[in-house]
Amino acid sequence: MFINENFLALQNNYLFTEIEKRVNEYKKNNPDKHVIKLGVGDVSQPIPQIIADEMKKAADEMTNIKTFHGYGPETGYDFLKQTILENEYKNISLSEIFISDGIASDIGNILDLFSEKNTVAITDPVYPEYLDTNIMNGRQIIFLPCVAENNFVPPIPDEKVDLIYICNPNNPTGTTINKNDLQKWVDYAVENNSVILYDGAYEKFISSENIPHSIYEIPNAKKCAIEFRSFSKSAGFTGLRCSYTIVPNELVEQTKNISLNKFWNRRQCTKTNGVSYIIQRAAQAVYSPEGKKNCAANIKYYMDNAKIIYDGLKKSGYETYGGIDAPYIWFKIPENFSCWDWFDYWLKNLGIVGTPGIGFGKNGQKYFRLSAFGDRNETLQAIDRILYKN
Ligand code: PLP
Repeated sequence: MFINENFLALQNNYLFTEIEKRVNEYKKNNPDKHVIKLGVGDVSQPIPQIIADEMKKAADEMTNIKTFHGYGPETGYDFLKQTILENEYKNISLSEIFISDGIASDIGNILDLFSEKNTVAITDPVYPEYLDTNIMNGRQIIFLPCVAENNFVPPIPDEKVDLIYICNPNNPTGTTINKNDLQKWVDYAVENNSVILYDGAYEKFISSENIPHSIYEIPNAKKCAIEFRSFSKSAGFTGLRCSYTIVPNELVEQTKNISLNKFWNRRQCTKTNGVSYIIQRAAQAVYSPEGKKNCAANIKYYMDNAKIIYDGLKKSGYETYGGIDAPYIWFKIPENFSCWDWFDYWLKNLGIVGTPGIGFGKNGQKYFRLSAFGDRNETLQAIDRILYKN
């Protein structure tokens, strides 16, 4: 047997293990110190009651022979697809939306559709899954630097690339790409027969104008883009698992006129039996009046945290980015520190845990990421410590 040796090229997932190791060691030596974690990207607020109620109802349906559900449609129930389309999109049809158990699954699985011969463009810094899944497949990767100097907007490469990952709003930088800049990428993709893999995990956190909520707001995007959206961060589904992916019918491989929508449908119908009925009912409840109101309140809670962190860092004199349309704040650490030295310095002096930017790529080495997903009091306390160094 031959193994996929591309796995040997992966970096060990050392970032979060290393963070945990350092935090545990510090706690062991300082049991009386309260450590505040502003590193994690998981949500802290519970799901709205209406979502739990709908799940309970759906669970009860499963006990009755008349309402029991066995295998569902592989690409999702129409009741959920319809609800999403009515609430989120103007011109997307039922055949173009696919329900799944998370962007993490789909953004990795989508690579089944593309040859290993493709060249992939990935931003640096980046959400690590885009990179690792392509390394697993042995594709050639080029990096697009996203730094303060270019406003964290990925530059269009000189060479031809086939697959392009765009995460907007961005994790880890918390920054955004506006409609004009996104139009340039769409134009590039159409011209080069490339596909944009557009990760909209944080779409619901956008409040600024001129930031697209969907790539399909950009003319011609249906010819070149696949969009991924998730209930994880917008509705507290990180543990429940539900997301959706749009593969437009217009998206075709130009030289042979092959529909990617058909390929993805075939792939999903072969390799998954879909998301459970109960979870799809839960996702539908996100769009009930009560669900919408409560999910919006949770997002406001996180974005108020983001403002507290952003303003606090600014006031302390840090060069600070993000935090306006995304729940992440990205700031520059002092010149004389390495990322990990800064991590230790904050942990030991302030009792605060952040995420070293180097974990997201070489261009992150002078930055630190803080997350707004934490508890309000802890966030306030952390900023107090940063401001007054206590
Ligand atoms: N994409 C980005 C940019 C993320 O930050 C995350 C989670 O942190 C995901 C995708 C994964 O989302 P899901 O929970 O839907 O798998």
